[in-house]
Amino acid sequence: MKYFIKTFGCQQNYADSERIAVAFKNRGMTQTKDVKKANYIIINTCMVRESAENRVYGLVNNLAKLKIKNSKLKIIITGCMVGLAIRDKIGKYLKRLKEIMPQVDEFIPIEEVGFDFAPLRTDKISAWVPISNGCNNFCTYCIVPYTRGREVSRPYEEIIKECKDLKKKGYKNIILLGQNVNSYGSDLISKGKKAKIPNSSFCQNIKPVYVKHLGRYRIPTLFPYLLEEVAKMGFEKVDFISSNPWDFSDELIDVIARNKNITRTIHLPVQSGDDNVLKRMNRWYTRDEYLELVANLKLKIKNLKLTTDIIVGFCGETEKEFKNTIKLCKKVGFSWAYISQYSPRPMTLSIKLYKDDIPHKIKEKRWKILDDLINKPHLVRYQSTNES
Ligand code: SF4
Repeated sequence: MKYFIKTFGCQQNYADSERIAVAFKNRGMTQTKDVKKANYIIINTCMVRESAENRVYGLVNNLAKLKIKNSKLKIIITGCMVGLAIRDKIGKYLKRLKEIMPQVDEFIPIEEVGFDFAPLRTDKISAWVPISNGCNNFCTYCIVPYTRGREVSRPYEEIIKECKDLKKKGYKNIILLGQNVNSYGSDLISKGKKAKIPNSSFCQNIKPVYVKHLGRYRIPTLFPYLLEEVAKMGFEKVDFISSNPWDFSDELIDVIARNKNITRTIHLPVQSGDDNVLKRMNRWYTRDEYLELVANLKLKIKNLKLTTDIIVGFCGETEKEFKNTIKLCKKVGFSWAYISQYSPRPMTLSIKLYKDDIPHKIKEKRWKILDDLINKPHLVRYQSTNES
């Protein structure tokens, strides 16, 4: 029996697929790269944009032809689509999925795979290590808290053990993964679970993080300690993704600055450079706070490169508000940006609170302006380097 896995979406989904592969291998199956030879086709889905969702529907529709030829072929859907379906208490969304994709045999929540399986890694140099799953931030445009649920951190010692094993196996690069890596561990602390951090002085040093936007202290996080402990294991490079500006503490900056094997390319999603848009997005920082953080990072970390995520055409985004994003981008000098055009996602707050009122043409125009400003100059540089 053979299985084939198709993954859509972010690195977290790819890391999940490595564990899904083990679950099927344990059932005595082998992986195939040829979809036509598969007895089981598993599709790990993404819903972060409407286009990602539509690609899944298109793929399942195409696979229907294979099912006609092979009636025993099973199609399984997992990942974000199923995550949303199990959190929709009235079952409307699952019903809709079944209507759109009648060819699907099973919808399996990724939670059923869990973290208990050691992932089946094909890359022998770099390894993704998930440290948490889900998100508590509820940015108004984002579907992740509904597809992956609230943030759950993996036990500290479990992550350390996995990284030590990877070091022994000769891995050179580690990428720590989570929707918001720098809030890692706040649930472990707040639930009073013993995080079993080897050096107990860590715990004494943990300070609450003051969030200006909320006017109160936020639960401290364990990420700086985890990152430093992994860095000290001697990997050539330790990377992490994704981090949020409001949890990026001074302590974390200092950890990066003093450990030269921690990445110097930091992904710091800004989403917009305008305070009103940030407020509508429920992002917990202002433009000035973001710039202050960038200045602090640049001051303490030499050879720093910053990449980011930006959404253009968010509900009600005026020309003036968009220009503030352009100004911020010029000020920061991002090396790369993942720019997306806003598309309303089911269950999110933005579809309940605001109108998707920016015409598609304007979204495209704004996308192109930022792409030309941030990404194109780098593309030209990379091309000329390749040619020389
Ligand atoms: S921080 Fe915001 S954008 Fe990122 S996963 Fe959480 S809710 Fe989504």
